[in-house]
Amino acid sequence: MQQNKSKKDKVAYDSLIEMRALGCGRVWCAACGRKVNAVTIEQASTLTNLPVELLLERIRNHGLHFRRRLRGFMICLESLIRFSRSI
Ligand SMILES: [Zn+2]
Repeated sequence: MQQNKSKKDKVAYDSLIEMRALGCGRVWCAACGRKVNAVTIEQASTLTNLPVELLLERIRNHGLHFRRRLRGFMICLESLIRFSRSI
């Protein structure tokens, strides 16, 4: 008996959760009003398969919560998940 299991995981969202488990970092998000998990812009791009430029544009348009760091931005994971679902 053969079973052809093509178990394709629900792409981006699951890897976001995975990333969360890895604990990239926690920052205070003013927009959320609490500490949130956060990823760098490069990680965010990898997770969502979206180009860095688009994410930067979103940051500028206040579509993503972020926190400035010495080396670039940390993006609030909550807002990233919301954004990646909305497109
Ligand atoms: Zn936030």
